[in-house]
Amino acid sequence: MSADGPPPGWVSHSGVVEASETVAAYAARAQAVKGACRASGCSRRVELEPKALCGAGLGLLNMRQVKGLWRCQRIDGCGLEFHNEPALNPLRLDHFVGRPNVRLRLRCRGDRCKFFRVWRVEEMIAGLTKRRQGDGRTEVEKLGAMMTTACPLCKRSNWMADVLWVSTDTMGWKAIGERTFDQREAG
Ligand SMILES: [Zn+2]
Ligand SMILES: [Zn+2]
Repeated sequence: MSADGPPPGWVSHSGVVEASETVAAYAARAQAVKGACRASGCSRRVELEPKALCGAGLGLLNMRQVKGLWRCQRIDGCGLEFHNEPALNPLRLDHFVGRPNVRLRLRCRGDRCKFFRVWRVEEMIAGLTKRRQGDGRTEVEKLGAMMTTACPLCKRSNWMADVLWVSTDTMGWKAIGERTFDQREAG
């Protein structure tokens, strides 16, 4: 994990912070994966514990590969279906305080609506604190549902939040710094 990257367990993919799919990343997020087999006559349930899997040397594997290792060896096939439990170490606003290369993006999820607004993390925390809705501990995933303002384009209130992360190693950042985000908004 690079020193100047998103928190452990998260990666920047095309400039947006998302959960990394490696077993080690699941361990960093303290996120268990549970499965149940839907094949007839099979009642198998499994729980993948990322930390234990890391201890067994599987940390660098993709979680999808590991799920495959748990398939039932039944002649009529396996109906094992997995779901992720909530991460016990979710992304929180204060993970990104003091980082000029980061913005919070609130996107409208209205039908074909493309409206979004970009905020500095510090501004968002100050707003939440003022309205007594939250603070730096607020989870990024829960932010969208807290926003009740109607979208200026489609007039609905259906927001989701994500985190924009521009690598400070890029030529673009070195040349124009925080103005990177102005360009993004214009585009
Ligand atoms: Zn089974
Ligand atoms: Zn909209």
